[in-house]
Amino acid sequence: MGAHRSQALLTELPPDQAARLSEQYWSAGRDYMSIARAFRVRGDLFFTKLLLPMPASGACVLCGGNLVYTCRSGRRKNDGVCLACKHHHNSGQCHCTQCDAARAEAKHLREEQISMQEAAEETRRAALRQEWVEKYGTVEHVTWALAQLSPAQRLYLSNAIRAFNEPGNVIYWEQIARDYGQPEWRCPGWVRLLESYHLFYVIEGIWGYNPALDGIDIRRRR
Ligand SMILES: [Zn+2]
Ligand SMILES: [Zn+2]
Repeated sequence: MGAHRSQALLTELPPDQAARLSEQYWSAGRDYMSIARAFRVRGDLFFTKLLLPMPASGACVLCGGNLVYTCRSGRRKNDGVCLACKHHHNSGQCHCTQCDAARAEAKHLREEQISMQEAAEETRRAALRQEWVEKYGTVEHVTWALAQLSPAQRLYLSNAIRAFNEPGNVIYWEQIARDYGQPEWRCPGWVRLLESYHLFYVIEGIWGYNPALDGIDIRRRR
């Protein structure tokens, strides 16, 4: 039934009628749908096709074009719209080509800044890591450190390294113990011990293990 009715409604008006419809809209507070009904036109085309915009004073700040109001609420907010480039002069979020481009550019700059910051932070962390590895990342050091550990601690260390190497790399110390039947309550002490022996490092909150441990049979008794 809706489709039936909309076919009967007009999609355009002769100029004199369009002028009368516009006059009725701009001169009073009458609801636009009731004007549309009176002129037997389609309500969904009222603002886009049927209503004549009202000239506004001033010129477009972007292109110098003439300004109009396209609806009463726009006129109330003094939101002049440029006929040439469609820029809205007083709406929170104008979507004309230039404003969209400016927003996209600003977003791009912000993202670039963030990724540069992240890269700088990563470079600094890598330098700290490198410094640490130069100090402690030797086979001599890890061989000495491993000799200080109990078999249970070595087992925990070897399982932790496996966890470090898993994709995703989120370390849950207690989970590592649980997975291999070791007592969870020992984890905090073990982790502190392994860090103090420089088998683990923590650089700016990011944990890792001593790379000299790669290729060493950690669980072998020495
Ligand atoms: Zn303009
Ligand atoms: Zn704009």
